[in-house]
Amino acid sequence: MSNSRVIHSRHRFTRKPNLADVKAAGHDMLRLVNRRILLSILSDRQPISRPEIAKISGHNKATISTITGELLKDSCIIEEGSGRTTPIGGKPPTPLRLNAQRFGLFGVDIRADETILALSDFNNRIVSRVSYETGVDSTAFLNKIGKEIRKLSVKHDSFIEFPGIGVSLPGLVDNHSGKFLLSVVLPWRDVPVVQLLEKSTGLPVIIDNSARCSALAEIWHGKAQYAHVRNLLYVSVSTGLACGVVIDGGLYRGGNNTAGQFGHIPIDLNGNECRCGQRGCWDLYASDKATLKRYAELRGTSGKRVTAMRKLIELVEAGDAAATEAVRETARYLGIGITGLINGLDPEVVVIGGEITKVWGVIEPIIVEETKRHLLAPRSHSIAIRPSAFEVRPSLKGALTLIQNSLLSVPHMG
Ligand SMILES: [Zn+2]
Repeated sequence: MSNSRVIHSRHRFTRKPNLADVKAAGHDMLRLVNRRILLSILSDRQPISRPEIAKISGHNKATISTITGELLKDSCIIEEGSGRTTPIGGKPPTPLRLNAQRFGLFGVDIRADETILALSDFNNRIVSRVSYETGVDSTAFLNKIGKEIRKLSVKHDSFIEFPGIGVSLPGLVDNHSGKFLLSVVLPWRDVPVVQLLEKSTGLPVIIDNSARCSALAEIWHGKAQYAHVRNLLYVSVSTGLACGVVIDGGLYRGGNNTAGQFGHIPIDLNGNECRCGQRGCWDLYASDKATLKRYAELRGTSGKRVTAMRKLIELVEAGDAAATEAVRETARYLGIGITGLINGLDPEVVVIGGEITKVWGVIEPIIVEETKRHLLAPRSHSIAIRPSAFEVRPSLKGALTLIQNSLLSVPHMG
């Protein structure tokens, strides 16, 4: 290896070892990492043959053969067809696929009004999806969801294993303690979601807030062109404004597990008082609540009274001037906040989710214009600002992705 290659590869390792949680890179760990890399390649590119996997992963054929042998034995993957003979007499390599029935993944997307429980196979195909009215009594409601999960796992007994339940929640979540802390849209406080659901189902539970779940879904399942994106900012525009930040392929959770509340960065110190105690937070200008309030002011005594963002978007689509102006103004504020975050985080892609993205043609030029005017650094790559890849409930996709992420992500070694 040339000297410059050595230096180059050295500089690719930038993470300080975590001495509080050292797991030396023993044989088992390497085996686990290699298995997960292979499963991720399969998930992304299937059907794919062993030689093709070898080419992508950089492993030699013997190593690939050993790992795929183990994965076949564990029923994680299957061989497709029986390797027909080519016209010139050779045997083509057998394509491999993930075994869809190996894992049944549960996802629960809890929102203020409606909760969706879904079961997907290992290929991310949803095989069951049921919706419930979200209950005010958190314990009774989560016990009910637990019971439904037990019923579903009996009904879908062709799955070899149910590795866990991913839960997306609309508010502050501490996924270390397993608690849903608080929310402005749901009257649940300090709810031990993980403990309650694990007790009622016997399955491991992972929780996170909906913006972070959505960010995770985008990095794993978003548009194909994000396949090599490592740094992504997700801006969830809903009743409130929250963000999910993916750094180098992993979700950034912060020291207290509450990272992503950029909606509470003040953008006007003389602005209105926010529920967080500060004045002029970004949330007060760019959330759905802000857009609805702005529309009410703009329409004055004329026009329709609107309390749901969905209805406001319908008015924009119908050409209503006040509704369009309300949304355009929100787009300006989204642009201002996103510019600050791009300057601070330098993501490759910014994904915006929420009802407002249904009128992407109205908001996109304004957001892009704002960012162009105020970006600091000259950039070698342009930053893509896109609507979410998932038209319906990115957070449900994210809840399922929490479990997929736990099966396929690569652990830190050391
Ligand atoms: Zn605030």
